[in-house]
Amino acid sequence: MLYVGGKWVEEGEAAVHPEDRGYNFGDGIYEVVRIYKGKMYQWDAHLTRLYRSAREIKMELPWSAEELSTLAHQLMEKNNITENDDATLYLQVSRGVSPRVHDIPAESKPVIMGFARHKARPLADMKKGQSAQLIEDIRWLRCDIKTLNLLGAVLVKQYAKDKGAQDSILHRDGIVTECSSANLFAVKNGALYTHPADHLILNGITRKVVIDLAKENGITVNEEAFTTDFLKQADEVFLTSTTAEIMPLVSVDGQPVGEGTVGPVSLKLQELFEQHINASVLV
Ligand code: PMP
Repeated sequence: MLYVGGKWVEEGEAAVHPEDRGYNFGDGIYEVVRIYKGKMYQWDAHLTRLYRSAREIKMELPWSAEELSTLAHQLMEKNNITENDDATLYLQVSRGVSPRVHDIPAESKPVIMGFARHKARPLADMKKGQSAQLIEDIRWLRCDIKTLNLLGAVLVKQYAKDKGAQDSILHRDGIVTECSSANLFAVKNGALYTHPADHLILNGITRKVVIDLAKENGITVNEEAFTTDFLKQADEVFLTSTTAEIMPLVSVDGQPVGEGTVGPVSLKLQELFEQHINASVLV
């Protein structure tokens, strides 16, 4: 079951208005939330980011945090996601329906849509690592907003796929930013390096959890921009996201990263992350 603009509908019955601004312009925002064993992980952080994205695009959300939490729980219930299930929850808000002009209509009524699906964790890939391809970051300059406008991400991801890699690592003039739908970390001499959370990256919720876990466990974290040359010399590289968790990248542009296997710092962080998930779903 989907929730679309205030109604519950079956998947095949959902309809989009031809002049919905999300559909016409990508004018809207979204969140993807992880569900572990039937419990939402980091829900408050996702809500906070959704409200922030709305503010940044000058859209006022008419729903309270409580109403959105109720909706999220209903989405799980109606899609039979119970306490043994791993799943994802998708929420998007379009600016709504109005005649197709670019400027923001004075009267707009946001349209919310949500669904929840069973989704297994990528455990096998997390163990063996994935490959990535470097490509120029062709996206806009407000990557901090989680907008529906994802064509840049679509094209760079496809570029990586066409080259036989699983993901793309983006750089602006040789400065590494993030991946197509994940944040990126490099490990050098036991310390973590990742792009600062400014307008050039999405401030990932998994990124923040990993930074906090690292610091709590004596691993130095440098939130500073680094070059593609630094990346190629890194001992380990991994990406982080809600769905990919901590995903080691063991090859970049066809060359092995470090030993070409999942390194000790990545392994340690995966272990700490696992404990964090377990502690969160037990509460
Ligand atoms: N960067 C981009 C561009 C993304 O699309 C995502 C996934 N939403 C992330 C980073 C990771 O964010 P999170 O950890 O909150 O899923």
